[in-house]
Amino acid sequence: MRRAIGVLVSDRVVAGMVEDGGQNGKPFTEPLLGCTADELASLPADQIVECIGELIVKAGSGQPVMAVGAGLPGVIRHGVVEESPNLQQLKGTNIRRFLGDFLHMHGIDAPVSVYNDADIVAAGLAGTRGQLDRMVRVWTLGNGIGYGQYPWTEGMWEGGHMVVSLDPKERFCGCGGVGHLEGIMGHRAMRLRFLDLEPEEVFAQAAQGDTRCAEFVALWHRALAAATASMIHLSGPGKFFITGPNSKHVDLEILGRFLNDTVKMSPFQGYVFEVVPSSNEVAIVGAALNADRTPAE
Ligand SMILES: [Zn+2]
Repeated sequence: MRRAIGVLVSDRVVAGMVEDGGQNGKPFTEPLLGCTADELASLPADQIVECIGELIVKAGSGQPVMAVGAGLPGVIRHGVVEESPNLQQLKGTNIRRFLGDFLHMHGIDAPVSVYNDADIVAAGLAGTRGQLDRMVRVWTLGNGIGYGQYPWTEGMWEGGHMVVSLDPKERFCGCGGVGHLEGIMGHRAMRLRFLDLEPEEVFAQAAQGDTRCAEFVALWHRALAAATASMIHLSGPGKFFITGPNSKHVDLEILGRFLNDTVKMSPFQGYVFEVVPSSNEVAIVGAALNADRTPAE
């Protein structure tokens, strides 16, 4: 029996114990809920680490564990948060070291690995769907746009900031870059573009035939198709999962049509999309599974 603890920092901190890579499809324990995103936003970095660490200790409940995996939004390399737009106070923090020290003081000496949150979603989907033998890629559609893949590979993989438009007016991305996928698809970016409408209303009015909204919804799908086509041309065809709060707006038929327009060569055919609901269980399994199988250096 291999036990590992997975933790995700998203709209709140969630953690759970996972046995044997979660291949029964879920964590061994019910996910435990910690601080909310609003609470985290007001805390300094060391207290955020404490909040995460306390939940891990609780999830471990004194049992021996082989590994601890954590997923955080942002650019994570070598255990350090290099950029995190929603938790800016974490920028530059060596989460792996601080969390490792905290856990050591509380009797957990397992190695800690830290990953981008989209990567642990990809790992969780691979683990809970019996797809550990193949490449799993996922788009997460929320405030930001995340790209994750399994098996975990070191790199930046900021797929949300792929350039999908050469229009100099496309400047709604939170990072400030022009023409980015997130600048079209991100929730925050949509609110900046439609100052008079919430994203939900944009999609609703598009469905009722409003020209401005319908044109944008087509652009929204075309942007995801463009980014996916780029990934297909770089790493091959196969399955792409789509998840996150705004995945409910995805029309797979429209998306498939735009993708067919952009991927023509025969070696790149054979791709498929699947929309899956967001799940704390899947993320917890993914964090634990990655930490156990491919510890992040
Ligand atoms: Zn960007």
